[in-house]
Amino acid sequence: MPVLEIITIGTELLLGEINDTNSTYIARTLRDHGIDIYRITTIGDNPGRIAATIQEALGRADIIITTGGLGPTIDDPTRLAVAQATYRDLVFVDELWEQILERFKVYGRVPTENNRRQAFIPEGAIPIPNPVGTAPCFIVEQDASYVISLPGVPQEMKHLLHLDVIPFLKKKFNLQSHIIKATVLHAASLVESVIDELIADLEEKENPTVGLLAHPGQVDIRVTAKASSEDEANRMIQPILEDLHRRLGDHIYGHDEVTLENVILRLLEESNSTVGVVHYGLDSSFGSAFLNPQLQPVFLMQLTEPPQDIEKLAAETSKFRQDNNATFGFGLALITDDHPVLHIVFHDGTQTRSQTSHYGGPIGNGMRWAKNISLDYLRRNLMQLTGKKRQENHD
Ligand code: ATP
Repeated sequence: MPVLEIITIGTELLLGEINDTNSTYIARTLRDHGIDIYRITTIGDNPGRIAATIQEALGRADIIITTGGLGPTIDDPTRLAVAQATYRDLVFVDELWEQILERFKVYGRVPTENNRRQAFIPEGAIPIPNPVGTAPCFIVEQDASYVISLPGVPQEMKHLLHLDVIPFLKKKFNLQSHIIKATVLHAASLVESVIDELIADLEEKENPTVGLLAHPGQVDIRVTAKASSEDEANRMIQPILEDLHRRLGDHIYGHDEVTLENVILRLLEESNSTVGVVHYGLDSSFGSAFLNPQLQPVFLMQLTEPPQDIEKLAAETSKFRQDNNATFGFGLALITDDHPVLHIVFHDGTQTRSQTSHYGGPIGNGMRWAKNISLDYLRRNLMQLTGKKRQENHD
């Protein structure tokens, strides 16, 4: 597979004044055409530094795509940098100048002397006419690699990428299109480092790849396959999913769009059970996902005052369960006075279980953490008890 490096050019990118959306777009698009992306670099408007970066990239990559720095002003440095990096002169191309004049005619404007700069490209470069802007682009072949310079304006860049660059690369590298398919498993009650240890060997695989993404109180495991068809990708992903389920057991609560709330509702509905939930410290959107289904197996009550302690929370939960004649009671209180502490209680009709957890992550994520930890606690208790209940109904 050919290797690509992307170099985005512009001081405003480097200083964080605008976001580099060009490189993500190019990477995503060319990845799907079977090109390996090794590196993305951002450089300010400095021809010397850009030339050095292109030269380095030429030592590693088959394709180097630059975006930006092709305008008519003195600080638009890409033409010069590519010429320097490939040991060429800049030459004036009449045909490009004609095209620039045509574009200006369409806009009803008169080009300035500066615009003539845009008709200079490195000697021997293949010009790419730009029907959507004034800056002409070009491809330089150097030692069996290609440096492709595209405009910075995203709409122009995308247009030329699809119209000229992809057909050019397909021909040069005999590229086969393929699809990328990903399935995400959601795991809870295990921290990222523990999961990492349990599946380290899978994370070293090349295709499908297995990667972790930690969220507060939850970890996603993404399995991504590159294949010629969706069926083939599914066939590649399936054994990895089975292996992950074997290793992580019921810590995995679902795939892709499945949420903890979905799983809890399913467990309650399948076992014909209900739960009364008492909560404190989470925002008012907590539990809203439970309120949509027609059958409402979840009753919610938000406490306005923090419970004094976990026993008080257990008492409130037990009372709420009884008042609503619910099968189970569930209470959670996130106390954020000093260091966030989460109290959780679960009442199965006869017994109460409880857990207290301490939060040490970024303060803004405390609520998401509390929500995920407590909903997973509820899920795990329901799995045990509703399993039993289903068994009893069966007997
Ligand atoms: P122009 O002929 O318009 O000057 P150019 O190729 O020289 O085009 P730049 O001047 O570098 O491009 O960038 C033009 C504009 O395009 C920037 O002001 C910015 O808004 C946008 N742009 C440039 N690079 C990127 C990038 N990597 N990601 C997103 N937007 C970008």
